[in-house]
Amino acid sequence: MPLVTSKDLLLAALEGHFAIGAFNANNMEQVQGIVDAAVEEKAPVILQVSQGAIRYAGLDTAAALVKIAAAEANVPVVLHLDHGTDVEQNVRCLRAGFTSLMFDGSKKTYEENVATTAKVAQIAHWCNIPVEAELGKVLQSTDGVTEKDVQAAMTNPDQAQDFITRTGCDSLAIAVGSVHAMQQAAAKLDIARIKAIREKVSIPFVLHGSSGVAEESEVEAIPYGITKINVATMLNVAFAEGLRKAMAELPDNVDPRKWLGYSRDAVKEVVRHKIRLFGSSGTVTSSGGLVSPKTVHRAAHLGGAEE
Ligand SMILES: [Zn+2]
Repeated sequence: MPLVTSKDLLLAALEGHFAIGAFNANNMEQVQGIVDAAVEEKAPVILQVSQGAIRYAGLDTAAALVKIAAAEANVPVVLHLDHGTDVEQNVRCLRAGFTSLMFDGSKKTYEENVATTAKVAQIAHWCNIPVEAELGKVLQSTDGVTEKDVQAAMTNPDQAQDFITRTGCDSLAIAVGSVHAMQQAAAKLDIARIKAIREKVSIPFVLHGSSGVAEESEVEAIPYGITKINVATMLNVAFAEGLRKAMAELPDNVDPRKWLGYSRDAVKEVVRHKIRLFGSSGTVTSSGGLVSPKTVHRAAHLGGAEE
C-alpha cells in the first residue's frame, strides 16, 4: 500500500482504546524488521525517522526505505518525522513525502513553541499532513535527570488546552513520567495527570521514552488517550544484542548479511511484542483497512482484538 497519514489511524486508536507503535528506524534491517512484524500481526504501524537517522542515512534514502517497505506491505504504514527541530526541517520532510510530522518546541519558551508549532501545522495542513507537537518536556536520561526534574517538566493540563487551541496541532506528546533513552523499564506514568489533561484536550496523545516505562503502566495509560507510543531504545538494544549473538556464534563469518539477519529478527520480535501489548494486533482487515474501532474496543475488553 502507499504510505498513509497518521491522522485517521490515531483517531481510530483513540476511539478503539488501543495504541499504535511508532518505531524508530535508522537502516534497512530495522525498517524490514518493523514492517514484517506489523504485516504478520495485521497491525497499522508508524515508522519514524529522527534527526540523527536523517544525518546517518540521508533524508531521501531514509524516506525511500520506508516507502518501499510500505508499498510491499498490506497494512497501513506511516512515515513520521520524530522530533523535528525547526520549520525548515519539517518542510524538507514534507517535500520528501513524509506523511506525518513533528515539531518539538519543548525546549523553547511557551510562546515560541506556540508560534512555531502553529506555523508548521498551517503549512502541513495545506498538504493534508498532520503534525505532532510537544508540551512539557520528555527529558533525556543521558542528561542525569532526577525524579524532581521529571516532575517539574510535566505537562500542565490548562496550558495544554490553550496550546491545542492556538496551534491546531493534531496530536500531542505529553510529559507524564517517562524519560528518553532509558534501558530499564521501571518508570510509572502519572495516570492522574493523563486523565486531567484528557479532561481539557480531546486530540490523541503520544508517549515518548516508552523503553523506560513499566509495561503495565503503558497499558494502563492507553484508555486515557495515549494512542501513539514511541519505541526506540528497546529496538536498538535488541539490534545490538542480535549482532553480538551473531558474532559470537559465527566468529569467522565475513558476510554482513549473516550477522545483520540476527539483528533484523531480534527487532522484529520486540516490535511484535509491543504491537500485541498495545492492542493493535489484528486491527487491520484483509483489504488493508482498519476494523471498526468499536469492534476493537469491545474485543479489548474481552481480552484481545479480533477482526
Ligand atoms: Zn521522543
